[in-house]
Amino acid sequence: MRVYDLRKRVLVTGGAGFIGSHLCERLLAEGNDVLCVDNFFTGTKDNIAHLIGNPHFEMMRHDVTFPLYVEVDEIYNLACPAAPIHYQFDPVQTTKTSVHGAINMLGLAKRVKAKILQASTSEVYGDPKVHPQTEDYWGNVNPIGLRSCYDEGKRCAETLFFDYYRQHKLRIKVARIFNTYGPRMHPNDGRVVSNFIVQALKGEPITIFGKGSQTRSFCYVDDLADALVRLMATDDGFTGPVNLGNPGEFTILELAQEVLKLTGSKSQLAFEPLPADDPLQRKPDISLAARALSWEPAIPLAEGLNKTISYFRDRSAV
Ligand code: NAD
Ligand code: UDP
Repeated sequence: MRVYDLRKRVLVTGGAGFIGSHLCERLLAEGNDVLCVDNFFTGTKDNIAHLIGNPHFEMMRHDVTFPLYVEVDEIYNLACPAAPIHYQFDPVQTTKTSVHGAINMLGLAKRVKAKILQASTSEVYGDPKVHPQTEDYWGNVNPIGLRSCYDEGKRCAETLFFDYYRQHKLRIKVARIFNTYGPRMHPNDGRVVSNFIVQALKGEPITIFGKGSQTRSFCYVDDLADALVRLMATDDGFTGPVNLGNPGEFTILELAQEVLKLTGSKSQLAFEPLPADDPLQRKPDISLAARALSWEPAIPLAEGLNKTISYFRDRSAV
């Protein structure tokens, strides 16, 4: 029973990470009580330092592969390394984080009757044969490759969410997030936007993997946080999965040229081998999100890149 504080109690796992920290900010701004849980594998206290001291924000160091006993109304399950070099560092732990983490958070949601949202990924589509990707596409995923710990872990987490929904009538929401970027990306996470910006600002070669003809669609983090909050607020009958991303599609070469233009950098392009299982194209079909969430991304690539460039410029490391 809650006597004094009628604010919604919201748990964000992975809340000290890139997307999680923006989500915590957004949830606090909307008047919620936010519990951020993180083991600081890829996240950092710096990402949430500005929230510490807010009486409605609480930070807990915890690994989601272990059970968690807290009382909350909503759970955003974001805990999982997302950059290939991070999730491939300890692939067994990556699968455990997705699968055991999902089991523990679903168990928590069941016990306290909380609504629960899973941060799934466009990687569930693998190297897609359907373009753009719609939610009814089952994907083309290598089960034994270098990306499999992440891709299959996230796929299994989706399975668990839907089995808890069918078997235990849990209120679930599954978001399939496409490439997201913005301030607080890890500067050395190897992801393309952070890599190119840091390389451009340092005047180092811009590393293009393959010919740079592979495509991605880049969503600014504020747009993504907005979509996650809208998804959580949908009627109980709406579970997703729903694609969340920006449908603007760019080749990696185009992204490099845009970053060079916006930073005014004289960095050269350096072509390197394409990593194994690197998807050739990726672009979300967001018509379901548009209908169900009344949402579409508002921030164009150049504007989002400028904000991200300012963030990396302001960091003393660059
Ligand atoms: P991130 O690495 O910055 O954040 C992940 C957070 O989870 C970090 O703070 C990390 O310390 C924490 N974490 C990892 N393992 C944990 C564990 N076992 N217990 C507790 N905390 C743990 O990555 P991000 O880009 O913010 O991604 C957040 C979520 O969104 C992830 O689930 C990711 O799979 C998903 N996602 C992100 C993108 C993207 O483009 N950024 C795309 C698709 C899906
Ligand atoms: N990439 C690149 N140079 C880099 C980092 C990444 O060309 O320095 C490419 C990578 O091969 C992939 C795309 O950019 O085709 C996006 O990579 P990222 O790791 O950001 O995300 P994901 O592959 O998971 O979509």
